[in-house]
Amino acid sequence: MYGWFGADYTVNLGLVDHRQCEYCKSIQPFHLFLRYHTAGLWGLFNYVEDQKYFMVCMTCRGAHEAVKSGVEKQFERHPIPFMRRHGFYLLAATLGLALFLYFVVFHGS
Ligand SMILES: [Zn+2]
Repeated sequence: MYGWFGADYTVNLGLVDHRQCEYCKSIQPFHLFLRYHTAGLWGLFNYVEDQKYFMVCMTCRGAHEAVKSGVEKQFERHPIPFMRRHGFYLLAATLGLALFLYFVVFHGS
């Protein structure tokens, strides 16, 4: 479809702790990473199709276990920008409201 874009993003959410790396065989700093894919119109009105959290060893870049979803609740702000998460629904809601006003309010009675 014209104007339909998908994009992949990877975000480093920062240091979580130091723990044993199974690849380095020693204690290393681990960062939490979020990898997600969005789709939407014109790269603006998007929704998230897939998101996964990983613990990554910052020394060898080895990705360890995927962290369960819902981990974003610990953040003050959601790591995915608002329009990338809800832009598509915002557009759909706006169109729905416009159609409602057009047919019911202006052409009703
Ligand atoms: Zn490592």
